[in-house]
Amino acid sequence: AELKAIDGEHHLHPFTDFKDLKERGTRIVTKAENVYIYTDEGQKLLDGMSGLWCCNLGYSQPSIVEAVAKQMAELPYYNNFFQCSHPPAIQLSKELTDLAPAHINNVFFTNSGSEGNDTVIRLVNRYWDLKGQPEKCNIIARKNAYHGSTVAAASLGGMGYMHKQFNTLGNIHHVDQPYWFDEGGNMTPEEFGLKAAKSLEDKILELGPETVGAFIAEPIQGAGGVIIPPSTYWPAVQEILNKYDILFISDEVIFGFGRTGKMFGCDYYGTKPDMINFAKAVTNGYQPLGGVLVGDKVTDVLKTQGGDFNHGFTYSGHPAAAAAALATLKVMRDENIVENVEKELGPYLAEKLAVVAEHPLVGEVRSVGLVGAIELVKDKKTRARWGSDGEAGGACRQASLNNDLVMRATGDIMLVAPPLVITKAQIDELIQKAMKALDEAHEQLKR
Ligand code: PLP
Repeated sequence: AELKAIDGEHHLHPFTDFKDLKERGTRIVTKAENVYIYTDEGQKLLDGMSGLWCCNLGYSQPSIVEAVAKQMAELPYYNNFFQCSHPPAIQLSKELTDLAPAHINNVFFTNSGSEGNDTVIRLVNRYWDLKGQPEKCNIIARKNAYHGSTVAAASLGGMGYMHKQFNTLGNIHHVDQPYWFDEGGNMTPEEFGLKAAKSLEDKILELGPETVGAFIAEPIQGAGGVIIPPSTYWPAVQEILNKYDILFISDEVIFGFGRTGKMFGCDYYGTKPDMINFAKAVTNGYQPLGGVLVGDKVTDVLKTQGGDFNHGFTYSGHPAAAAAALATLKVMRDENIVENVEKELGPYLAEKLAVVAEHPLVGEVRSVGLVGAIELVKDKKTRARWGSDGEAGGACRQASLNNDLVMRATGDIMLVAPPLVITKAQIDELIQKAMKALDEAHEQLKR
């Protein structure tokens, strides 16, 4: 009770209504094990969201903890500025570039996904400057995207309600997302995928291809609602980007490191990004670390013309965070995590979600690997929603917490992204709890 009072009085939570929080009180998480979190009130919840999409290996990974402790004892801090470096960052740069697609052989470390996207913008600008085309300074992102919370990353984001709270960068433009369920009308998903891709080409032509330097997108729109693109979307987008010589940035802060059943989302969709922004699961969320994997097309220019890049963070590639990442990648390798998602757990989750699709409150389910979405509707046929946007989602989120399950709601879409170490029996448990939550939310909405 004392901690709750202090929290309400002194702690400004991210993405939280400050006045609301004091009245509602906080849920304090005191302990976590495997795929479960425990609260101060003794509730044990199955974490269907891997924290914030980051604890892909769950909460019980002693080898990561030990690696951090060992590194802290040996070299608790040093930086990579100027000509300095240290063993964990060096080793991690090798391991990450080995995992990345063959045309990507360099990495710039950050502490978070947001800083990574700031870094991306700086790299894009620097690249085109050095190429003698500084006018290629426009960057295109997508509506309803989330790319982070710094001013630059939030400007890349396409959620309108966020843009109302600060002054966005003027050189960033937004195009349609391939959200067939809500926006596809009478089109087939394939037709709609091409239409969404065309909105990118239309924007490029409107701005002038000679002014557009990069396009940034997640392989699957994550926080925006797990918007899985129709099969036609990515091939068409890649062709457009090649045609107009525009850099492609794959924001893999959520989808990097096995979520789709491939190491990176670009591997899943067969796209060829010039840069990959990553964070979160690279350290299993145990330490803050992110980075930008930079392709040869860009580094060839950066390294041979101009050279200097006046950008970096005090903690870029921090030794303890780099040690956590190395230990995380080792667990992933030793336990065949990615392959297991592709061959076993992903198909199993999809099979179980197909049952959820039958629920009267559900209009569609979709999943790739271990990430899924459940669309809540009032009418399955017309896809009409309940009341105001987020009403059904809010009800289902609360019902889910009441049933000891963490699911996230984006408007009226319920999201699941459990740890990649979840067992089939725990997926059954997740589905059972989700079904109970759907029942309860449905009853509440009908009242
Ligand atoms: N990019 C994407 C796609 C994200 O989902 C997020 C965070 O959820 C970010 C960037 C920002 O990452 P961070 O919160 O580490 O700054």
